[in-house]
Amino acid sequence: MSLQLLRGRELKPPLRPVPQPDLRPSPPPQEAKQIPSIGRAPRKAALRFPVNPDTRTFYRRFYPGTSVTEWNDWHWQFQHRIRSLDELARIFRLSDDEREAVVQHTGPLPVGITPYYASLMSRDDPAEPLRRTHIMTRAEGIRMPGESDDPLGEDHDTAAPGIVHRYPDRVLFLTTGTCATYCRYCTRARAVGNPGGEYQFSPKQWEKAFAYLEAHNEVRDVLLSGGDPLSLSDERLDFLLGRLRAMKHIEFIRIGSKVPMVLPQRITKALVRVLKKYHPLFMSLHITHPREFTDESREGLARLADAGIPLGSQTVLMRGINDDIAVIKPLMHLLLKNRVKPYYLYQVDPIRGSSHFRTNVHKGLEIIEGLRGYTTGYATPIFAVDAPGGGGKIQIAPDCIVGRDGDNLLLRNFEGDVYPYPDAGGTLGTGK
Ligand code: SF4
Repeated sequence: MSLQLLRGRELKPPLRPVPQPDLRPSPPPQEAKQIPSIGRAPRKAALRFPVNPDTRTFYRRFYPGTSVTEWNDWHWQFQHRIRSLDELARIFRLSDDEREAVVQHTGPLPVGITPYYASLMSRDDPAEPLRRTHIMTRAEGIRMPGESDDPLGEDHDTAAPGIVHRYPDRVLFLTTGTCATYCRYCTRARAVGNPGGEYQFSPKQWEKAFAYLEAHNEVRDVLLSGGDPLSLSDERLDFLLGRLRAMKHIEFIRIGSKVPMVLPQRITKALVRVLKKYHPLFMSLHITHPREFTDESREGLARLADAGIPLGSQTVLMRGINDDIAVIKPLMHLLLKNRVKPYYLYQVDPIRGSSHFRTNVHKGLEIIEGLRGYTTGYATPIFAVDAPGGGGKIQIAPDCIVGRDGDNLLLRNFEGDVYPYPDAGGTLGTGK
């Protein structure tokens, strides 16, 4: 048995490179050329998508000669991602800090921003939230105690190539190393955006993952992640979902994605037709800030919700980005208005170079206390820390049990008032 298949607490080597896909002619190994192997060009009607006025002004200025059909084609957006210092400098007034960080950067998690998402960012202000989370600064070079490349111990819990099997009945399936945009706080910074690097994900690797899942019928829940699974072509997603659905023990499939917010044009009617074939299919959407809600992202979310896909959000709490109830509360309301259930609010994982984004844990509790009772229960997410070393998600909630008075449990409400609740025979609140 190979080390990859062993479970246990000893260190495992990272996944080795595997050959490129065999489902279709292999594209060259540059990441920007991985996606266009999509098959037929989409029909014009399928490209109809709203363009918000600010974005329209942006693309006319920075992408003159681009037709609205091209702009709304997700392949065009993907192929024209901003990947270099020159491209950044053409659009943004870069600070010295940003400029130096981009020049010095090597390895995974490169700069990668769709033109659409760039249109939502400030061109002048490096502190603007969407820009700060996507254009690197030199703070990424500072490694604080407790930070590491793989803080969640995913390599350790890798049971087969791309399969992280930590919990008894569910697995994380890393399907691709490609994303539409690269977030500077990414938990998988070590593994994404680095074709030919240490971590490789491909349909050939998927076969090993399928073999593992077929042999493990205790797995009833598969979360597809990466990278971003929606950066895969419709054909590959169809194949992937079809293979998983054919395994009778897999009851629940989720796709984790940031695409609806950074490349909403990807939510084509053809994609939706593929996804609808594999119900029950859920989606966990990575959504950071109210500025991500536009005519375009609303349309993408509506298409997914109309297809009957339950949508939940995951928001990473970040210093100076969204660590304010005045930002989080409207964000939660926007999610609900767009049929996305606020699901998780996360602490930033302690990846190397992420301390400039990390709040203390108390800040998250403060935000939950600012939501709970003050707005719709559905608008209150679970606040969680993903425990370093593979401990899994740990929910952190404000303490509402204040003590006990005989048969009454004493509970604190959202306004801080204490109420007795009849709880004969209970021991909660006694410290026992
Ligand atoms: S989209 Fe997700 S996987 Fe990709 S860089 Fe952002 S956080 Fe990481």
